[in-house]
Amino acid sequence: MNHPELELEIHLFPCLADNYGFLIHDREYGLTATIDTPEVTAIEKALVIKGWKLTYILNTHHHWDHAGGNLELKEKTGCVIVGPRAEATRIPGIDIQVGEGDTFAFGQHTARILATPGHTLGHIVYHFEHAHAAFVGDTLFALGCGRLFEGTAEQMWRSLQKLMQWPDETRIYCAHEYTQKNAHFALTIEPGNQELVARAAEIDRLRKKDHPTIPSLLAMEKMTNPFLRPTSREIRDRLDMLQASDTEVFARIRELKDRY
Ligand SMILES: [Zn+2]
Repeated sequence: MNHPELELEIHLFPCLADNYGFLIHDREYGLTATIDTPEVTAIEKALVIKGWKLTYILNTHHHWDHAGGNLELKEKTGCVIVGPRAEATRIPGIDIQVGEGDTFAFGQHTARILATPGHTLGHIVYHFEHAHAAFVGDTLFALGCGRLFEGTAEQMWRSLQKLMQWPDETRIYCAHEYTQKNAHFALTIEPGNQELVARAAEIDRLRKKDHPTIPSLLAMEKMTNPFLRPTSREIRDRLDMLQASDTEVFARIRELKDRY
């Protein structure tokens, strides 16, 4: 890159059993944010490794493995907590409430916020357009999507369609390493998708070495993630849903995955 000072630095590290933590850093302004707070000790260790001082928490939704470390980190660092307006009463220590269409200025970088109800009703995602990076919490996973704990299939499909509008080169940072299991499921409903077959083999190679499969490119998700592919002829044929609406096919894929 020609202007390294403009680069959004992103540091990924494992938390808990299968969560990922992410620190983002703006060198010019000396700002550092953690995306969600899955595990305080892991986040603190990552801050020490990078030599960064925490200034923000950016929450995606209220679940304990995303906002459970908020208060401890705020108390220790004095950081400012940004989170979804629609879940403000459930986000510990929230200072700045954001929602659909809002922007959040992070030094030289700007995150555009989208509301993505489905996994929870107030779930939001952060899209750093110029950095081609998006932090999507538990809305979209590599080869998967979040479970519908609060919203409907219709809401989730609408949310995922919003993310599909982003540029193909957008790197998707999801919050869990579920990719290998997701790949096995995806192959049960679209085994003729050659990109999917190749990707599943690559995922097996990465996981064998305990390497992360995150981030993934949106272009790759659109080609291989069954939850973004209710229009796929092969999937519709296999589910005997050639005449169904996209929402109905999406809902069926979600049901099948819940039972997989
Ligand atoms: Zn969650």
